[in-house]
Amino acid sequence: MTGPVLQVRDFCVDYGQVRALDGAALDVDAGRIVTVIGPNGAGKSTLLNAIMGVLPSRGSVRFLDRDEQGGIEARVRRGMSLVPEKRELFASMTVEDNLVLGAWVRPDLRRGGADATRDEVFRLFPRLHERRGQLAGTLSGGERQMLAIGRALMARPRLLMLDEPSLGLAPLVVREIFHIIAGLRDSGVGILLVEQNARAALQVADHGYVLETGRITLQGPAAQLATDPRVAATYLGLGSAG
Ligand code: ATP
Repeated sequence: MTGPVLQVRDFCVDYGQVRALDGAALDVDAGRIVTVIGPNGAGKSTLLNAIMGVLPSRGSVRFLDRDEQGGIEARVRRGMSLVPEKRELFASMTVEDNLVLGAWVRPDLRRGGADATRDEVFRLFPRLHERRGQLAGTLSGGERQMLAIGRALMARPRLLMLDEPSLGLAPLVVREIFHIIAGLRDSGVGILLVEQNARAALQVADHGYVLETGRITLQGPAAQLATDPRVAATYLGLGSAG
């Protein structure tokens, strides 16, 4: 699968008098990882929530060659999936039941259609397979993130949006999770990854955008952004831009 999955144009979101996103534009193609990096409060979560239809917005969201105007449920059914920053797992349910819930949009759920996807998720995350009977609330931070991503994949999305998957995780666990995210390209899903951890995000991504106080200020191939002096100085802690 190739071609555009998501095209966002002139995208604006206001919280009352405060403009949180101001004319943002970005593209995600099938089988590509696109990252949006930026500091605290830049509008990264706002961007994902507005694309998902959780927040009202102005501008256009073109998803799979159609202008998206539906609510959240319609967007999920058409193939959008968001892993929120807070993960939002069902703590008192098992790992496996959390996964099954992620497949609620699938018409083939009752006919066992989700079983093959669940097995794929277990292959991607062997740790989840080991712990399939464990309550989600007792998982480690890294395992919770794996479960949140696994649950999103159960819907077989065309666009997977990840809100700071590295948040609160040890560097080794971040590496493990980003390695798995990199492998998801092969399935053809388009990935929009929002991160404060610019170093890890630019390493895994194909293309990157820098978001600062609601505006996209820089964009380019991720490898190129990683060597841009402004990015290096501000987001990678590599000394002054001069
Ligand atoms: P972080 O990395 O800290 O989550 P972020 O880049 O995801 O930051 P957002 O959470 O999208 O940023 O916030 C963007 C701006 O909008 C911030 O100035 C924030 O204070 C403001 N904001 C976010 N949610 C609301 C809200 N519900 N009401 C009013 N202002 C909000």
